[in-house]
Amino acid sequence: MTTWGYRKDNGPDTWHKSCPVATGERQSPIDLKDDTVKGGKFPPFSVSYPKLSSPKFCNNGHSVQYQADDSGNSTELSGGPLTEKYKFGQFHFHWGAKDDEGSEHRVNGKMYPAELHLVHFKAKYAGIGEAVQSGDADGLCVLGFFLKVGAENASLKPITDLLPKLKEPKSSEPVPASFDLKAILPSALTDYYTYEGSLTTPPLAQCVKWVVFKNPLEVSAAQMEAFRGVDDRFGNKMVGNYRPPCPLHSRTVSATFK
Ligand SMILES: [Zn+2]
Repeated sequence: MTTWGYRKDNGPDTWHKSCPVATGERQSPIDLKDDTVKGGKFPPFSVSYPKLSSPKFCNNGHSVQYQADDSGNSTELSGGPLTEKYKFGQFHFHWGAKDDEGSEHRVNGKMYPAELHLVHFKAKYAGIGEAVQSGDADGLCVLGFFLKVGAENASLKPITDLLPKLKEPKSSEPVPASFDLKAILPSALTDYYTYEGSLTTPPLAQCVKWVVFKNPLEVSAAQMEAFRGVDDRFGNKMVGNYRPPCPLHSRTVSATFK
């Protein structure tokens, strides 16, 4: 499925034609509503992100994505609601044309201007692809962070500074050594929602343990605007690259905070 996008004729409402699982029982994103969330208690997260080799930031036609060459990297994510060790695979963003829309998850109906997804795969797999193919119900773990407009985000700046060079689909830029993956995470990874879901883009595989953090990261208005200058694979402005919320069905969402 190479022609999917976010417009009326190829957007989320049409994805079920090539991906029947789009109407499945554990699709993402969802609206995180207070009246459906239960309390959850988990051990602390442990995150180790040693330097990746030759990291790149690229325009893949539907998002902008940070990735490195080595799937055999020595990163490690464990703890929290995870029962096994995971490795970091890539991160990417979803955003809107303006600040009142853009995130995939919502909180009591509220959208943020953007959402960051850090995608991890179970360490026993060779990479994201193998984890998805395995059929493992939590082969992937995605850490999701809302972005809001406020102070400049110095940790993300080496990445957002590259956006003007990524206007063209399939373009790619080396990430400067000054970028520290770990530094984009808040110091405390304690307040979050977690639930069983899916990829939010085709193939929409239902293999993701979602962890969506309550507190948004801040980016400046200029940083937010830089995302909106990128073109998608149809030659349109890449804005509104988010899937609307899916039904919760019989799932439980746990939150670690009150
Ligand atoms: Zn995503």
